[in-house]
Amino acid sequence: MNPPPRVAIFRIAAEIGQRHAIGQGEGQGLILRRGHAMRKAGRDQRDGQGSKKRHPVQAEKGVDQHVVGIGPQRALVNRSVRRSPLAPFPQKQKSAASFPPRLCRNLRTLPMTKLVPVFDGHNDLVLKLAEAGADRDKLWLEGKGAWHLDLPRMLKGGFAGGLFAIFLPSPHTDGPDDHPMSAPTYDLPLPAPLPLKEAQAMAVDLLGQLLWMERVAGGRFRWCRSAGEIRKAMAEGVVAGVMHFEGAEAIGPNLDALHVFHAMGLRSVGPVWSRPTIFGHGVPFRYPGTPDTGPGLTPLGKDLVRECNKLRVMIDLSHLNEAGFFDVAKLSDAPLVATHSNAHAMTTSTRNLTDDQLRAIAESGGIAGLNLGACFLRPDGRENTDMTLEPVKQHIGHMLKVAGEDCVGIGSDYDGCPTPNPIGGAEGLPVLIEAMREMGLGEALIAKIAHGNWLRVLERTWGA
Ligand SMILES: [Zn+2]
Repeated sequence: MNPPPRVAIFRIAAEIGQRHAIGQGEGQGLILRRGHAMRKAGRDQRDGQGSKKRHPVQAEKGVDQHVVGIGPQRALVNRSVRRSPLAPFPQKQKSAASFPPRLCRNLRTLPMTKLVPVFDGHNDLVLKLAEAGADRDKLWLEGKGAWHLDLPRMLKGGFAGGLFAIFLPSPHTDGPDDHPMSAPTYDLPLPAPLPLKEAQAMAVDLLGQLLWMERVAGGRFRWCRSAGEIRKAMAEGVVAGVMHFEGAEAIGPNLDALHVFHAMGLRSVGPVWSRPTIFGHGVPFRYPGTPDTGPGLTPLGKDLVRECNKLRVMIDLSHLNEAGFFDVAKLSDAPLVATHSNAHAMTTSTRNLTDDQLRAIAESGGIAGLNLGACFLRPDGRENTDMTLEPVKQHIGHMLKVAGEDCVGIGSDYDGCPTPNPIGGAEGLPVLIEAMREMGLGEALIAKIAHGNWLRVLERTWGA
């Protein structure tokens, strides 16, 4: 995900004709409610992740204000739709049958018989499904109202598996958080830390959502806990999911909860999203800027790294600031991994990796996943999806040059960040693969970037 108040799923509600509260029972379910103050109607808002969870959704007439939260009493998040004229999204919302003409032409020229399987380092589908409430079935299984990911499009586009983030939204707070990332420069304030008990309640709710995803998928989707399980699922044509925490707010100081979540299948943890935790400090969403934004890991953060090493839980460095990154590099005995971060040399965003960081990842035998978020790809750092794939090629080229062929993968940030129009959602992965061919990369290297490098790193981190 990207920046502060996250993206609202208004679009989903709009497309499914939702007009009233959707609940999953009377008690603890995730609910979509309308009528809460969302600031000015029709005004752009960002999601609770700074830029991460922004939905390029357009507020539709009659579906003006929804608030998404967990629990019946209060809205934890206000997410609204951004209506940036610079980021036209309608085409992304459409089915394959109604691709915009340009993308349609692209797809027709592709060798569709040779889909390259993609293992993806990061997406935010889980929260999107949770926000869909009672209509999550339609979204997950049929793709109705989807932004980037749903099961039919994943299967069609070659999305063979990936890390699925559990991201915990912040409560809505009024504040200077309406800074558009489409501006020439921006520096978004970060939300306050989340209290442990609230975070754990939300995490359990979302873990329930994860289990539901497999339960209803009819054998087409499976949670995996080892590299061997991922390989088996991919060989069978089953989408392989890995549970990941984007921010460790649901883990308390004694780290007992880490063991609980690990027993439930958690295999990857980011000590922070960008919001601070008891473990460390994340980068604010700032352009231009560098990842050197504050102090390193806290003492508890160092304990978390050691415990993750013992459990062989992967540690995700995306969103961590530079000092924290190198603290992990010193402490950890696992490959260094930034699941969804690009090259700072190409786009001077705080969220991108410096060459020193890329080299450290390479020296550890780790991986950096190419983030498809437009604001992390464009040289001007703007969240404008009307762009060619030249910046994508530039980032891939630089990451390959500095980190090497074994240490670059994909970390789409699908459903967390607006992506270039020529790619859109999972249906556009063949377009991304074709862009690599246009760069002159051979099929063997493309396969490594698409999935091979990820599988090697996961196997080395977790064991076979
Ligand atoms: Zn993120």
